Amino acid sequence: MDILYNSTRTKGNPVKASEAILKGLSEDGGLFVPERIPALDKTLRELSEMTYGQTAYEVMKLYLTDFTREELEDCIAKAYDEKFDREDIAPLVEADGAYYLELFHGATIAFKDMALSILPHLLTVSARKNHVKNEIVILTATSGDTGKAALSGFADVEGTRIIVFYPKNGVSPIQEKQMVTQKGQNTYVVGIHGNFDDAQSGVKNIFGDKELNAYMAERGFQFSSANSINIGRLVPQIVYYVYSYAKLFKKGNIKDGEKINVVVPTGNFGNILAAYYAKQMGLPIDRLICASNENKVLYDFFKTGAYDRNREFVLTSSPSMDILISSNLERLIYHIAGNDPEKNKELMERLKEGGIYTITEEMRAQLSDFYGNYATEAQTAKRIQGLYRETGYVIDTHTAVASCVYEKYKEETGDKKTAVIASTASPYKFTRSVMEAIDSKYARMEDFDLADRLSELSGVKVPKAIEEIRTAKVLHDHICEKTEMKKMVMNFLGI
Ligand SMILES: *Cc1c(COP(=O)(O)O)cnc(C)c1O
Repeated sequence: MDILYNSTRTKGNPVKASEAILKGLSEDGGLFVPERIPALDKTLRELSEMTYGQTAYEVMKLYLTDFTREELEDCIAKAYDEKFDREDIAPLVEADGAYYLELFHGATIAFKDMALSILPHLLTVSARKNHVKNEIVILTATSGDTGKAALSGFADVEGTRIIVFYPKNGVSPIQEKQMVTQKGQNTYVVGIHGNFDDAQSGVKNIFGDKELNAYMAERGFQFSSANSINIGRLVPQIVYYVYSYAKLFKKGNIKDGEKINVVVPTGNFGNILAAYYAKQMGLPIDRLICASNENKVLYDFFKTGAYDRNREFVLTSSPSMDILISSNLERLIYHIAGNDPEKNKELMERLKEGGIYTITEEMRAQLSDFYGNYATEAQTAKRIQGLYRETGYVIDTHTAVASCVYEKYKEETGDKKTAVIASTASPYKFTRSVMEAIDSKYARMEDFDLADRLSELSGVKVPKAIEEIRTAKVLHDHICEKTEMKKMVMNFLGI
């Protein structure tokens, strides 16, 4: 059966999956949501025999119902290939009683690759299906990892251009180097004086600028989004939860139907929302454990029912989670409001105006699947060191936030169900923070020397993504104020 997509802010006018992917954001500022969540139609036994690509097909066909089998299989084959340094794409590693689902084996060594290696293909197929003649301009705000993964995915993809805005002083040195050395005639990278929320709001304003959109269309361009609000990113992220459950079953770690907990280091709420969708599809997940760093707006939300962004923005060692407006939470709000766009819209307007909204008791009652907590900077560092000393396994700062929160969860609840922790970045992407957490003596070493040292410690080879940027030339040096983003876009397009 076909699945159409509604906006979280207006009733009616549902669109096909390919249209939702092309648009990114709905014209009313809302996010696209499937009108219902489909159920998995394969048994666990069948799923347990599948490759990553085959699992991806079984999940994605249920959501992207206007894609043909050939189209989907082609997109999947182009995405999950030797760009990944593991044939199983997303391996599970057991350490200290939990399973770390390593989502960082793609081209840019962060979990964003899981969705952004396929999004460009989904998007070009969507453009063809909808007879789009314009060049597609991908506009992206990044807290560090999305930018590089999107650049890498879209570089030199015909019919597209990609513009990335990042907070000039809010990403790690390796993240910045990865972005500003990006090759490709159609790529453009700009650092802004501001934080991630400024970048994201700026991008949202450009998307919503009707005059600009009309002006662009006359000149043969149209915007689309590679941010995690695009359902073309959300849907591929559901896949690895299904895949990891099936692999745990296959290895005899769990029984068919046994409930597991999932722990997700969270920023924009995309990854954990995918886990929530997996659960709604029938995957036996019990608690969705939402882990925050010191920007603990989500922890407070789950605790009090009030979402309050009026607070200081903290720069942490897990910069991809330094976010105060978790965009994808809007989808959850819409669902717990009974798929009611009016109610959701009202709350989102309050967020925009006063920076705060409070959900009703009735809505809160539907959040019992979720558990929120956070880790301080010191706790995060201590967890990296502790896990390394105990097991020899080295995790990155984001994963460490999740690992830390999982320890708190177990202590608080006594719940020892099998747990999958989403491991969202390679420790090589945050080498300095990781190595200094292990031993303060590393503080004096150069970044790339630290990578070599990490390799000695962990027994894991330095990934290609790091080797490549050791000597790469800086190709982008644009910087602007947060008020100048529109001007930068027009300059780049030459209009
Ligand atoms: C993006 C990112 C996150 C946060 O994921 P969301 O889907 O935005 O919640 C966590 N860790 C890393 C390494 C990331 O790149």
